Amino acid sequence: MPGGMAGMPASPGIVEGKVHLLRWEVPDVDHRVVSDNEITSEIDRLRDAIERAKERLRHVRARADKHAGPEEAAIFDVQISILEDASLIGEVEELIRQNLGAEKAFDLVLFEWRQHFARHSQSMLRERVGDLIDVQIRVLSVLMGLPDHDPVDLPKGSNAILVTHDLTPSLTVQLDREAIIGIATDAGTRTSHVAILARSLGLPAVVGLRDATARLKGNEHAILDGTSGILIVDPTPAQIATYRDRKAREDADAVELLQIATTESVTLDGHWVTLRANVDLPEEAEQAAHSGAEGVGLMRTEFLVVGRATMPDEEEQYRAYTHVVEAFSGRPVVIRTFDVGGDKLPVGGYQTDANPFLGWRAIRMCLDEPELFKTQLRALLRAAMHGDVRIMFPLVITLDEVLQAKQLLREAAAELDARGVEYRHDLPLGVMVETPAAALCVHTLVDDVSFLSIGTNDLTQYTLAVDRGSANLASRFTPLHPAVLQLIHRIVEVGSAHKLEVSVCGEMASQPLMAFALIGLGVRSMSVAGRAVPLVKRVIRGVSVAVAHEAAMAALASKTAREAEGELRRRLFAAFGDAPFLRDGLPGFVDGNIFEGSGGP
Ligand code: PEP
Ligand code: MG
Repeated sequence: MPGGMAGMPASPGIVEGKVHLLRWEVPDVDHRVVSDNEITSEIDRLRDAIERAKERLRHVRARADKHAGPEEAAIFDVQISILEDASLIGEVEELIRQNLGAEKAFDLVLFEWRQHFARHSQSMLRERVGDLIDVQIRVLSVLMGLPDHDPVDLPKGSNAILVTHDLTPSLTVQLDREAIIGIATDAGTRTSHVAILARSLGLPAVVGLRDATARLKGNEHAILDGTSGILIVDPTPAQIATYRDRKAREDADAVELLQIATTESVTLDGHWVTLRANVDLPEEAEQAAHSGAEGVGLMRTEFLVVGRATMPDEEEQYRAYTHVVEAFSGRPVVIRTFDVGGDKLPVGGYQTDANPFLGWRAIRMCLDEPELFKTQLRALLRAAMHGDVRIMFPLVITLDEVLQAKQLLREAAAELDARGVEYRHDLPLGVMVETPAAALCVHTLVDDVSFLSIGTNDLTQYTLAVDRGSANLASRFTPLHPAVLQLIHRIVEVGSAHKLEVSVCGEMASQPLMAFALIGLGVRSMSVAGRAVPLVKRVIRGVSVAVAHEAAMAALASKTAREAEGELRRRLFAAFGDAPFLRDGLPGFVDGNIFEGSGGP
C-alpha cells in the first residue's frame, strides 16, 4: 500500500526503515470438535504448545531482563507460572475430553479466567488479567500455527519501525532500542501514555493512525515522520530525498537548540520563567538535567509500576527517587504520587470501572490503599534526605483528599520514626489542578498546600468531555478552548494572590504556541518533556511578557479555540517569523499547512 498515512505527531524525529507489524491480539478461534480417539493426541498437542510457549517466555524474560531490568522482567515469571497452573491446565484438558479442539478449549478457559479475575475483590488478582491475555495469545498462536510477532525477535540493527494497534506495558518492556527505531500505532494521541513513553525513550513516534495495522502487510520500506505525524509507506525516490534532507536539517536544528540549554530562562522584558523537566523513567534524569532544566516539575512515578507484576517496595522506590534527586543536585524535584488507573498501569488491575478515566485512579486509589500509599510516602520522605524533594498529589477534587493524604504522610513519618530511619520532615506538598472541580474550587485548597501544578492534559479532557486518548476526537482535544483558558487563568490568579508557585506540567507547556499563551496568562513556571526544554526556552527568550499578555487576553476573549489560536499565532509569528520550530506538536501540520485541520471546535 504505497503512500502516506496521517496520524498524530507523538515523538519528534524522522527515521527510515522496514515496517515490523505486530498484531498482539487474541485470535478468532473456530469451534472444532474432535472424535474420542483423537482426544489423547489433542491433549498432547496442548501440552506441547504450552511447553513451547513457556520456552518462548523464558527467552523473552531474558531479553526483558537485559533491556528493562530484573523487576520488569518478573512479569514473565508470572506468565510462566500461569502456564504451570495445574487447575487451569486441568480445566482445558477436561474440555478436550468432552471432544472440544485444543484451541477452543484453551480459548474458553482463558476467557472464563479473565472474567473471573477482572471481577476479583483483590487488586493483585485483578492485575493478572493482562498476563492472562498475553498467555492466551502466545499459546493460541502456537496451536494455530500463526506467525510469531514478538518484537524481541529482531536482530540488532534491524532498523524496524514497529507498527501495532497499541503498545501494552508487557510489549514496552521488551522494546529493543538497538533494533526498533520508531513506533507507529493505530490508537492513541499526543497525550496518551504510549506517546509520553516514546518521547522519554527518544523514539520517533506517530500515533492515531487508526487502521495502519490493517492496511500494512509488514516488511514494507517506510519513512516515519514523528515531527509531523506521518507514516510514508514505499516512498518514492523523490520523497526519500526530501525526507533525508529534512532529517539533516532537523538534526542541525537539534544541535543549535542544545546550545540554548545553558542560557537563562528569561523573557525579552526581563521576567524569569522557571523551566523544569517532566521525568517519566528514572533513567531519563541525567539527560533532562543536561537539557538545561532547573529541576523536575513532574516525575510520573507510575512508570515505575507499568508492566510490573507487583508494586515496587519501599527500598526500590527509595533508590529510584534518590537517583533522580541526585541527578539534579539540590534543585527542586517534584515527585507525583502514583497516578495509576485511567490510561496508566494497564495491567488489568485497576480498570474495572466502566469509565476508567472517571473511575478509581490516582489519589482516590492511593487513599483507599493506605499501605501501598504509605510505602511510597516513606520512600519519598527518605529520598528527600538527598535533595529538594516536593510531593504532589494527582487528580485532587476536594480539600478532604489533601487532608487525608497529609494524615497518611504523618503516619508514614511515624513509621519511619519507629524504625529509627532518617528522613526529612518539612517537605513542600502540592496538588495537581487537573479537574474543573479543583480549578473552580482552587481557593479552597490554597491554604493547605505549598504549590499548584496545572495538569492541562486531564484538565482539557475533563473540561471538554473529550477523551485524551481517542484518535477520533483528537481535533477536538484543544487546551486553547476558551473554557480551558479561563480555568487556567483563574488558577493562576488565585494561586498568585496566595503567593503560591503555579506551574503547568501538561503537554501544553511543551508546545511553543501554547507555552506563549501560558506566559501571557501569568504562568511563571513550566515543566516540559526533557527534549522540549531548549525549545520552550527559545520561546521564553524570544518573547516579551507584555506581548504574550496581550495575546493571551485576546485568546481568552475569543469565541472558539480556532480564533484563540489565530490571536496567539499572529503575535508569536510576528516575534519569530515563520521559524520551523514553532510548528512542533501542532496538529495538522503537513509540509507548510501549519494550521490546517487544527483548532478544533
Ligand atoms: C496532566 O494531566 O496534564 C498531567 C501532567 O498528568 P498526566 O499526563 O500524567 O495525566
Ligand atoms: Mg493528569
